[in-house]
Amino acid sequence: MKPCRECRREISEQAFACPHCGAPYPARESWDGWGYEYKSKLAVAGLPLLHISFKFRPNRRPVVACGIIAIGQFGCGVVCIAQFGLGVFSMAQFTVAGFALAQFAVAYSLIAQFGVYLAEGHGQLVFSLSKLLGTSTIHIAVMDSRFGCLPSSCS
Ligand SMILES: [Zn+2]
Repeated sequence: MKPCRECRREISEQAFACPHCGAPYPARESWDGWGYEYKSKLAVAGLPLLHISFKFRPNRRPVVACGIIAIGQFGCGVVCIAQFGLGVFSMAQFTVAGFALAQFAVAYSLIAQFGVYLAEGHGQLVFSLSKLLGTSTIHIAVMDSRFGCLPSSCS
């Protein structure tokens, strides 16, 4: 038995929540959220080289992975692998990036299912930003033959 971190009443060390006050993981000295987080000791320009975060703070706010290499549900980094990502090189479901591999992306150059690009884009529905802004006709790049298009369905 240990005192609860919050209310100081005796609780089991194995308790997931204090039966008295409801504090999560009450036996731990300190506790800053659910989930998993890793931050490398090595830092470059004030950013950790690697930051992995699939973590939520006690108030349920997600912890954004932010590092040279960022991996997480929400990520921000030079190299970013995330569900929602912001990066120079980004692999994500939703992303704004320099170079992106994503389902939904806005990027300088991208491979995406749906995307808006500046320089080059490949995918199912990708649009050039300059054409979107420059002309009234929306240019739709029909699925590139290199991406999953069967010869029989290509004319
Ligand atoms: Zn308690």
